[in-house]
Formats: sequence, C-alpha cells, structure tokens
Amino acid sequence: MSLQFHNQLNKKVDPFTPQVEGKVSLYTCGPTVYNYLHVGNWTAYIYWDTLVRVLQANDLRVDRVMNITDVGHLVSDADDGEDKLEKGAKREGKTAWEVAAFYTDDFLKGMKRLNLIAPTHLTKATNYIEEQLQLVRTLKEKGFTYEIDDGIYFDTAKFPTYGDFAGFDLEAQKAGARVEYNPEKRNHSDFALWKFSPAGETRDMEWDTPADLIEAGEERLGFPGWHLECSAMAMTLLGNTLDLHTGGIDHIPVHHTNEIAQSEAATGKIFANYWMHNNHLKVNGTKISKSLDNGFTLDDLEEKGYSPIEFRMFVLQSHYRSEGNFTFENLDAAKNRLRNWRNIAALRHQTHDRLRDDDEKSTDDESVSLYASSQALVEALSNDLDTPVAFAIIDEAFSKIESIDIEDIHQHALTSLLETIDDLLGLQLLETTKDISDDSKRLIIERERAREAKDWKAADHLRNQIEKNGVTVRDTAHGSIWEYSV
Ligand code: AMP
Ligand code: ZN
Repeated sequence: MSLQFHNQLNKKVDPFTPQVEGKVSLYTCGPTVYNYLHVGNWTAYIYWDTLVRVLQANDLRVDRVMNITDVGHLVSDADDGEDKLEKGAKREGKTAWEVAAFYTDDFLKGMKRLNLIAPTHLTKATNYIEEQLQLVRTLKEKGFTYEIDDGIYFDTAKFPTYGDFAGFDLEAQKAGARVEYNPEKRNHSDFALWKFSPAGETRDMEWDTPADLIEAGEERLGFPGWHLECSAMAMTLLGNTLDLHTGGIDHIPVHHTNEIAQSEAATGKIFANYWMHNNHLKVNGTKISKSLDNGFTLDDLEEKGYSPIEFRMFVLQSHYRSEGNFTFENLDAAKNRLRNWRNIAALRHQTHDRLRDDDEKSTDDESVSLYASSQALVEALSNDLDTPVAFAIIDEAFSKIESIDIEDIHQHALTSLLETIDDLLGLQLLETTKDISDDSKRLIIERERAREAKDWKAADHLRNQIEKNGVTVRDTAHGSIWEYSV
C-alpha cells in the first residue's frame, strides 16, 4: 500500500516513507490542561487517532508521543500575558497543579469516551523540566540565545530559514505586526525559551534557573516557554529526527515554526520529515471563542443526547484539511448515519440465525465485493486520510448488503468489513451491535408465524412485546429484519 500525506514542509501531498522500515515515530502536540476541551480541540485528536490507525493498517509500528501542556502556555502568542494554567488556578481558587491534574484526568477520560488509542508516551511538560533546560543550554552554547529582563530568548535572525515553514516573510511580518511585544527583543519573531517569574509574584509552578544559563549570575526562578517542551520531549523520546509531527493549523506560524528553529539549531538535523495539520472546526460558521460560549464539551453534547462516538462520526465525515462546521443539524445527520450503519452491522446476527453456513452461499459478487471494500477503505485513508471517500465506500458497500436477502449475506465477509471499519475509524460498530436476546428472537419468530397465518391482531401484539425489549421489526421485500429501537 502506498501512503501519502500533505506535508507542510513542501506544501504538497508527498509519498510517506519512514526512516526505519516498519516503524514510525510520531509526535502530536497535546492539549493545554487549563479547561475542558471543546469540540474543536477534540476534532484534532480524532483525526490524529485516525492517522495512527491508518499507519497501523499499513503494518507500521507507531511509536507516538503526545504531550500534556501543564505549564508555560501563555495567553498571548507574543510571550507575554498570563500563563493559562495560573489563570485557570485563579478562576477556580485552586493551585495550578490542581487545575492541571483535574483537566488532565478529564482529557484522559475523554480520550476513552472517543475511543482514541492511547499514545505510547503521554508526557507532561512539568516532568521534563531538566530536558528543557538542557536544550536551552545547548542553544546558549551554540550562540542562539540572549537574555532580557523577562527571560531567555531564541534569536530568530540566527536561523535564516525561520520563515520557510509557514511561508512568511519576516520583514513583512514585522511591519504588519499588531501584537505588542517586549521592545527589548531583538526581532519581533524571537520567542522565549525560558521565562523568569515576574518580580514580586510567586507562581505555583516555577523552578530554579541554573546559574550557567543566566548572564548576570543572580538567582532567578523561572518556567519554560510553551514551544520548548515539545522539542525537548519529542527528541528525548523519539530521537533528533521524527518521521511525523502533527498539530492544528494554528500551530504553523508560531508554535511549530519555533519548534523547528530551536530543535534544528540545537542538533543541526531536520526535526521532522513530515508535518501534518488539521484545519479548524467552526461552530455555526463562527470561530470557537470564550466570548461566544460556543465551545461545546463532550459533556454538553451528551446532555443534549449525542454520544462521543456520534461526534466522532460527525468529525470523520469531513476531511482533516477542510474547515469543519459544527451545527446540531450536522451532528443529527451523523447520528442518523451511524444508526443506519449499526443496523447494517446487526444483520450479521440475522444471517447467522437463518442457519445457512457461509460455505453454502454462492461465492457471489456481493461477498467478494465486501472484501474488496475493506481493501478500498485502507487505500482511501492511506491517501492523505481521505475520510469522506472512505465513508462513501462504506455507504456503497452497505447499500449493496441491504439489497440482498438476509440469508444470502456472507456473514464472514460482513464481519470482516466491520472489523476493518472499526480498526480504521474507531466507530465501535461491532461492540455496539450485540445480538438481541433469545426471548426477542422467539417473539420475532412467533410474529412471523402469526403474519403467515394472517393473524394481524396477534402479530401487532407481538410487535409491541418485541418493542418493549428495545427492538423494532421492519418488514422488507427481503423478509422481516430487526433493528435497534431509537
Ligand atoms: P490547545 O489546548 O489550545 O493547545 O489546543 C489543543 C489542540 O486543539 C491544538 O492542536 C489546536 O490546534 C487544536 N484546536 C484548537 N481549536 C481548534 C478548532 N477550532 N478546530 C480544530 N482544532 C483546534
Ligand atoms: Zn507542540
């Protein structure tokens, strides 16, 4: 199978080749744990989970690091303003440590609810302070840093390819700058590697700055800049050059650009061979923002009757590089589509109950085409994670299944397609479509007999009894089939 992904390094879809055959090192920028994640944030993690599944389906072992930003992500990209964690602590009357622990836990629970595969390493920035300081030390020794009143900065003028990744012109950016920045900085784009704790302020999270890193030699407490953690953790656990690095498009101009500058300046090696970015999700056509209060959480959706997997279904209907639009109408459509898929999945129990073994069935075109659909799915997703094409393939395969008699459905072919869908898209079609009880099955047979005897009253009565068990019977041209009640 050939894999290809859109790579921000070349700004085009490139064939993907890992450095070591059979193995991929992958880094995903994780959440800042100062609040609940909203539907937009989750969108990013759903797509990157799908990427892991697609790599695995291509027989690649994925060594993946995802960080938890529990310190140092400032409210403003210009390296000033409050630390988001300290801000969360004030808001909730807790310490920054407590806030980080609470929202980290909520994130981990959310990952399970969305059926996201746990990364090989889930690393907290605060557990890698030493490694981050060591990176600052290397950069200092190589002459890339300078110190000003509020921290140790990276001098972007010393890294001539700084603007290449985002495709921007440093001079133009400087001229058009709208963000206020510390006038002591040498260049507008310079960024803090290590910030000093403001004088007279005690932070919940702060560490001694090693004496050899400070010019004046006086003792100062400090904390890492946001970008530093990703480089330090990625390189510590995955080596100096990663195969793949992922994040949201908002990370291209600042966060990833800075990760590249500081990592490559330190090692002299390319930091990541492929960079993939998910586009953003809007809500009702508008950017998600605090002031609009439109950043729905997983709990908000559940309260309104939508499960995390229904939300996952909604996300995967769109391509990761196209801008998504969250509306409850769109979520309803995804929910209905998933319900339909689950009812098709349930047909595997019903063909089994017809007591005709697969090998008695003709090796007809339908079952062969189901096996081919599994293959086509892997191919579609290997082509830059084309989830909309994958969904079209599934719809087409499922409508074929609907068009044949239940007893002719090849059970193994259907089950194997469902396994492939679950492996690739994590929709839990198999585990959410358990067989119905023997009692319900008995009632369905009795109802069929009543219908054959044209005893409509008994048939209606039996239907009501079946429905009490959460099952609906539908009479089709291909016989009666059962479905899960809404
Ligand atoms: P943060 O916690 O702010 O670092 O964001 C966590 C992740 O969510 C990052 O990878 C962002 O790129 C991503 N993200 C933030 N907003 C959205 C959005 N509206 N749609 C998709 N991804 C988003
Ligand atoms: Zn990062």
